[in-house]
Amino acid sequence: MSRRYDLHTHSLRSDGTLTPTELVLRAQRHGVDVLALTDHDVTDGIAEARTAATSCGLTLIPGVEISVTRQGQTLHIVGLGIDPENASLQAGLARLREFRNWRAQEIGRRLTKKNIVGGYEGAARFAKGLVLSRTHFAQFLVEQGQVRDMGQAFKWYLGKGNAGYVPGRWAALAEAVDWIRGAGGQAVIAHPARYKLNGRRLRHLFGEFKECGGAGIEVISGSHSAEESRRLGAIAQELDLLASVGSDYHGPEKPWVELGRGPALPPSGTPVWETW
Ligand code: AMP
Ligand code: MN
Ligand code: MN
Ligand code: MN
Repeated sequence: MSRRYDLHTHSLRSDGTLTPTELVLRAQRHGVDVLALTDHDVTDGIAEARTAATSCGLTLIPGVEISVTRQGQTLHIVGLGIDPENASLQAGLARLREFRNWRAQEIGRRLTKKNIVGGYEGAARFAKGLVLSRTHFAQFLVEQGQVRDMGQAFKWYLGKGNAGYVPGRWAALAEAVDWIRGAGGQAVIAHPARYKLNGRRLRHLFGEFKECGGAGIEVISGSHSAEESRRLGAIAQELDLLASVGSDYHGPEKPWVELGRGPALPPSGTPVWETW
């Protein structure tokens, strides 16, 4: 019988809401055999996830989701099978987290100008002193009754073009791929359909990514439609990129995304795990 893979998930070490142990146990309950923990710009949850995975017989792939700035746009690159002890990877991630902290303070200042005070402290409370994300600002804005839900928080305050938006100064694409490969991992472009690039620009990105040493793209993602997955599967095959599958699970608060529940990969193309 084929194994069930979920190669893109978050814990509360970044902007998810489950502990690494809770995430692994939930993945097992939902029939996942192979799970990658891919927190944003941090690998601190991997040790705990490994322990939990060992005790329940699930295979844990150590991963990370690295924030990248390319042509003024933020992209996410997932690293699979990385060695979390790798020094250059950790130095790179530390730099991104430093930017995260500065950015969070800046978001706080910008919200203050809109008469919303205590944003930085509020977000830090939701982040539990761990890595600060815009998700935590969104949770704060919902809590304060400034917005109805997380989507509205991004639409009104945190998304590009809004008062609380601070442009990213993340890693360069080549840098992120180097950190991942240097740590023995494979680089995969997360949720490509989310970047709203037309076919020509998407192929350009994929070509550049391959030249940097990138291995694959997410064909199946919690944020892709069936049509987007079909199209990405075809492009992956055409450009000889491996195909990956990830829910991008962040926690039970978003019940429309579940661990291991995505559709199967299109039969054409090569799944990333076939290279393992
Ligand atoms: P950051 O990396 O701190 O800029 O935060 C980006 C995170 O915010 C993503 O990883 C998502 O989890 C979340 N996010 C982005 N856009 C939205 C949205 N429209 N609604 C809810 N969450 C979002
Ligand atoms: Mn996230
Ligand atoms: Mn992402
Ligand atoms: Mn993600």
